[in-house]
Amino acid sequence: MANILIIGAGGVSQVATIKCAMNSNVFSKITLASRTKSKCDNIAKFIKDRLGVTIETAQIDADDTNAVVELIKKTGANLLLNVALPYQDLTLMDACVKAGIPYMDTANYEHPDTAKFEYKLQWAKDEDFKKANTMALLGSGFDPGVTNVFCAYAQQYLFDEINYIDILDCNAGDHGYAFATNFNPEINLREVSAKGRYWQKDKNGVGKWIETEPMEIMFKWDYPKVGVKDSYLLYHEELESLSKNIKGLKQIRFFMTFGQSYLTHMKCLENVGMLRIDEVEHNGVKIVPIQFLKTLLPDPASLGPRTKGKTNIGCVIRGFKDGKEKQVYIYNVCDHEECYKETGAQAVSYTTGVPAMIGSMMIARGIWSGKGVFNMENFDAKPFMDELNKQGLPWEIIEMKPGERYEVE
Ligand code: NDP
Repeated sequence: MANILIIGAGGVSQVATIKCAMNSNVFSKITLASRTKSKCDNIAKFIKDRLGVTIETAQIDADDTNAVVELIKKTGANLLLNVALPYQDLTLMDACVKAGIPYMDTANYEHPDTAKFEYKLQWAKDEDFKKANTMALLGSGFDPGVTNVFCAYAQQYLFDEINYIDILDCNAGDHGYAFATNFNPEINLREVSAKGRYWQKDKNGVGKWIETEPMEIMFKWDYPKVGVKDSYLLYHEELESLSKNIKGLKQIRFFMTFGQSYLTHMKCLENVGMLRIDEVEHNGVKIVPIQFLKTLLPDPASLGPRTKGKTNIGCVIRGFKDGKEKQVYIYNVCDHEECYKETGAQAVSYTTGVPAMIGSMMIARGIWSGKGVFNMENFDAKPFMDELNKQGLPWEIIEMKPGERYEVE
């Protein structure tokens, strides 16, 4: 039985914590801690009212490793789930090493001042986790997370060799605001305003990153149960680990849908400097423009009651099985209003929070175990895929003709 310490109390945390409480046969004790304790108390009250389950709450600064170690000791936690921000990944990993308990997160480390998305500093802690006789599981959200598991499932159960992967992330939800982000605005805007990048092997078989201007490559894709959406090539962190871990890969790309209103607002904000991540002086006060913008924008956790429509996130995977070319499309469709009814949160929080709980469950039950730092595709995908079907994120597989696209002119 797991005694889990969950850090962070935003939209993703709300879903992950509720889902842990729904699985009380696995999570016997839940402590929710964050910078603002009142947000933890609100989630605890929601869980008590809906499920009759009591969870503990606490105040914590996740940037303070020693304070986190103290909290781990005080609660007796034997698993830590980080659903605060990517800025806290390293300090929380260090706390888990010191306390000798498993660590999990949903997003790779970013330094607040550099907007670099990479696993390097987290993978570098592999030896620390080995020495501490415990493990870290990185990126157990939807993308990264479930998308890695879809690719691992294809590699382990459907293909002998995989050559091409396109990850396709569509959020067709409408919250009625001209501009808002579906998860933490600072993290979201840093990600989507960065240059695009995808991975491809050259004719000598050497894997290379190919850079594009932000939003330079677009196609229209017909998403099952959602419809045709403009999909833009972005760099996304699962490309880094999947390009290393999928056998025979020749190319992997990531696409996300954006509406024209979102893109126009983003361009304007960028042009006037509101997406800057460095400090500027305003009336004698130092501010970081993107942090100020976050204060002005709607809190993603407040979008739940307003958002209608669906998400469809999946992978189109092409390769060979028994000498024959094969292509599949594995995806999940999630409905914003149904997510809200169940958890009080919209589908982007839901599609991240559910896999965060399932990853925790895989570790708690000892189904995924090891010593060191791991990505999702390092483990058997089947038990995770089975839980997705049980815990609210059912998936579908379509067999396509090799080379077939749902691209629309
Ligand atoms: P929110 O901004 O809604 O919530 C973040 C929470 O972390 C807040 O409660 C915040 O506290 C808390 N926090 C921030 N800094 C600290 C700190 N130093 N100490 C303690 N608590 C802190 O974010 P989301 O819920 O939208 O996202 C959570 C995570 O999920 C992010 O890392 C995001 O990148 C990731 N994500 C992953 C996805 C995936 O598919 N893999 C998709 C979407 C999100 P306060 O309330 O005081 O600000």
